[in-house]
Amino acid sequence: MTRTASDTMPSGTTGGTPQILLSHHLKQLKLPTVLREYEKVARECAESGVDHPRYLLRLIELELIDRERRTVERRIRAARFPAVKSFDTFDFTAIPGLNKMLVLELARCEYILRRDNIIALGNSGTGKTHVALALGLAACQKGFTVTFTTAASLVSQLLEARDERRLLKLQRDLASVKLLIIDELGYVPLSSTGAELLFETFSQRYERGSTIVTSNLPFEDWTSVLGSERLTGALLDRLTHHVSILTMNGDSYRLKQSAARRRNPSSGAEQNQATQTVDPDTGEILTP
Ligand code: ADP
Ligand code: MG
Repeated sequence: MTRTASDTMPSGTTGGTPQILLSHHLKQLKLPTVLREYEKVARECAESGVDHPRYLLRLIELELIDRERRTVERRIRAARFPAVKSFDTFDFTAIPGLNKMLVLELARCEYILRRDNIIALGNSGTGKTHVALALGLAACQKGFTVTFTTAASLVSQLLEARDERRLLKLQRDLASVKLLIIDELGYVPLSSTGAELLFETFSQRYERGSTIVTSNLPFEDWTSVLGSERLTGALLDRLTHHVSILTMNGDSYRLKQSAARRRNPSSGAEQNQATQTVDPDTGEILTP
């Protein structure tokens, strides 16, 4: 009996039209964009007389762009942001005390290469979480791994991991991420074990990766959260060795927004402004 080529071929690669085979191979090679686009791009290239190498180049470039986008999306999901926010929606004029130049420089993520830290301090509603989220998003887009958490949630995760004898694994994960964002340090006082575990996290990341901390408390009040002056001193020592501090004191953006809504409940702001002027203090309509 004569052997045919198909006898020696791996299963799934024989028979069928070239399209079926091609689709199979492209799936195996994990080239979904080439698979989705090759016929359309072929038609376009045929119409405009583009040669085969350029046709192939176009397809491969599409795959690369899509692959980068998928990787960024994966990093964003892995970061566990409570919401995706960027600097595009951040109004710097609402918080004039914030150093805009410094923030935009930080958005370039070079501090992550230097393993520097960032601390954002200020009262509630001034955009600290927004800025931390936007810096986290920028880091994902620049190719860094990010983890977002709150101080309270991080401490309870650490305590739980310790009880379940998987603390080392969690600590290793926390130490290896390029950017760790710890939001809201200061809202909840920590137990002494909790504070020790948080300190260890900072210690293990020291000069290994960047950490962003946001807090409503000035440094002198951190002892009230961490419980011990010695621990607070040691933590601040590590955290502030290479640090950019963002001072974000001002009016609460949340309160300002809701006050504006109360003044103008229909909130079709632009439309209304075309026909009437509202007194910003009293909400009174000045020109009907
Ligand atoms: P904080 O963390 O300082 O308490 P947030 O970042 O949570 O404040 O801000 C409260 C809300 O107001 C969020 O929805 C945030 O997106 C919005 N916000 C705060 N500051 C600004 C700003 N300057 N520009 C646009 N939105 C802002
Ligand atoms: Mg916040």
